[in-house]
Amino acid sequence: MRACVLTATGGLAHVAVQQVPDPGPPGAGAVRVAVRAAALNHLDLFVAQGLQGVEYRFPLIMGGDGAGVVDAVGAGVTAVRPGDSVLINPGVADYTCDFCRAGEHPLCPNYGLLGEHLPGTLAEYVLVPEQNVARMPKLDPALSWAEAAAFSLVTLTAWRMIVTRARVRAGETVLVWGFGGGVALAAMRIAKLLGARTIVTSSSDAKLQEARRLGADVTFNHRTQKVAQEVRALTQKRGVDVVVDNVGEGTWNDSLRMLGRGGRLVTCGATTGPNVAMDARRLFWYQWTIMGSTMGNLAEYAEVVRRLGQGELRPVVDRVFPLADVRAALERLERGEQLGKIVVEI
Ligand SMILES: [Zn+2]
Repeated sequence: MRACVLTATGGLAHVAVQQVPDPGPPGAGAVRVAVRAAALNHLDLFVAQGLQGVEYRFPLIMGGDGAGVVDAVGAGVTAVRPGDSVLINPGVADYTCDFCRAGEHPLCPNYGLLGEHLPGTLAEYVLVPEQNVARMPKLDPALSWAEAAAFSLVTLTAWRMIVTRARVRAGETVLVWGFGGGVALAAMRIAKLLGARTIVTSSSDAKLQEARRLGADVTFNHRTQKVAQEVRALTQKRGVDVVVDNVGEGTWNDSLRMLGRGGRLVTCGATTGPNVAMDARRLFWYQWTIMGSTMGNLAEYAEVVRRLGQGELRPVVDRVFPLADVRAALERLERGEQLGKIVVEI
């Protein structure tokens, strides 16, 4: 089968589209999906650079997000049948350990992501446990394959951050850095669904205009405006209740400067660097909560798919590329030009 593979780490120069062996028939409890579209995530760029602590087996089939048609099912599979259109949840757990039995799949010691630890979705076929597929909801107008592929990773991640971890409530103020990225976009929309007031930042005025169209209440251009000062003025020095910071070193100090008393900072990434500092006295005096979050569990996934079925959280697709042009798609992501998800049709 044709697939987008990484032949070595060190960046996008080592990305190629080539023939690889297909995955074979699905084992017990597994499902083989004929992928129709796969969406890109920042994770794909980190994987291509080379992640510490990940054992690479080259060629590595890239891609975490995807959607397609169930092509074959293994013994004992009851969730789906061949011919079903499905969304793929990229986070694969063992579904047997203590964390999994407690419903906390992203804490599973054997947790892995498609396209990082396991063969990914940028291929004609992918094998996943039946727990990792969900029937595509019927919407009007119908979800396109590109929209379906763009849904899972960022919506699930943002849901866990905003709902489960930060527990955002109606009337609270939530600031999200870096609108344009898929998680930030989904986080803003989920905070709005919960009745929060949302502030978003971007370096692009065009992206901020789109943010307002999608429901953001206040926008700041972090290239031309001093966001922490602006937010303190906007909130009469009170600060915000929740900051969503997936930027890391570049924004951390400003995130804390505008975090109000009793505020929560939630992070699922550190795109500008991982080493952040904090004054512990301010942490206890203002009774802040600093929390990490990654991906989501099966209950959260079922909930975001249910919301999608109600017409909420429909993904925003930036641009669709054919598989042959996957390198150009990854380069667009690397330059940060996208608004919404970049999708590759298989
Ligand atoms: Zn487990």
